[in-house]
Order: sequence, then structure tokens, then C-alpha cells
Amino acid sequence: MDCIFCKITNKEMPSDVVYEDNKIIAFKDINPKAPVHFLIIPKKHIPSVNHIEIQDKTLIGELILAVQKIAKEKGLKGYKILINVGREGGQIIDHLHLHLIAGSKNTKIQE
Ligand code: AMP
Ligand code: ZN
Repeated sequence: MDCIFCKITNKEMPSDVVYEDNKIIAFKDINPKAPVHFLIIPKKHIPSVNHIEIQDKTLIGELILAVQKIAKEKGLKGYKILINVGREGGQIIDHLHLHLIAGSKNTKIQE
């Protein structure tokens, strides 16, 4: 499949990994919008929030727990979690990803 984030998951493309387990991988955003900007993705190819199915509910919870682990490990006192959904929602890459953003009080994510 021609999906950049599947390629990162399969290590066919390099990335700066900050967390990995059997279902999830997290890596640094290549074009950070804040001092800390990580992407947390399921290894399973789910195109967007609109494609999540009921059998994915545990995985979705685990994505949030992965964010919590990374934030703790990196000593983040506060952070934002952002998910863009669909082109009109600012989604460019059609593989579900959570943005973990921190390091600037007034971080605003551009459309
Ligand atoms: P979104 O607009 O929510 O789809 O976000 C896609 C994000 O992926 C953007 O913040 C990009 O900077 C980031 N990105 C694109 N290609 C890569 C890559 N190869 N490695 C890491 N981050 C990437
Ligand atoms: Zn994918």
C-alpha cells in the first residue's frame, strides 16, 4: 500500500522513533509546529477517525495511553493532542495519527 505511515511502521522509510510497541509507533514530526511535536499512530492502517470501527476501541484507548507514557517519559508538564479529520479538517496523510504538541504555551496549529 502506498501509505507513508505504513512505510514508517514497516521500517521501509526512516523516522525518528520515540515510542514503539506491538500495535503502536510514535515518531517525531518531520516538520514540527512546536518545540515538541510527535505523531502517534496505530500500526494498523486506519485512514481516519471516520474509519474507526467498534473492534478498534481498545486500540484507540491504547493510543491515548501511549501519549500519556511518552509525555511522562519526556517530562512534559502539559501538552495538546490534535487529530485532523478529512481534507477540510486539515488531514494530509490518510493514516490515523494523533499529534502530540508541547513546549509552547501559545502553540497554534495552522490549517
Ligand atoms: P496531518 O495534516 O494531520 O495529516 O499531519 C500530517 C503530519 O505528518 C504533518 O505534520 C507532517 O509534517 C507530518 N509528516 C509528513 N511526512 C512525514 C514523515 N515522513 N515523517 C514524519 N512526519 C511526517
Ligand atoms: Zn497506512
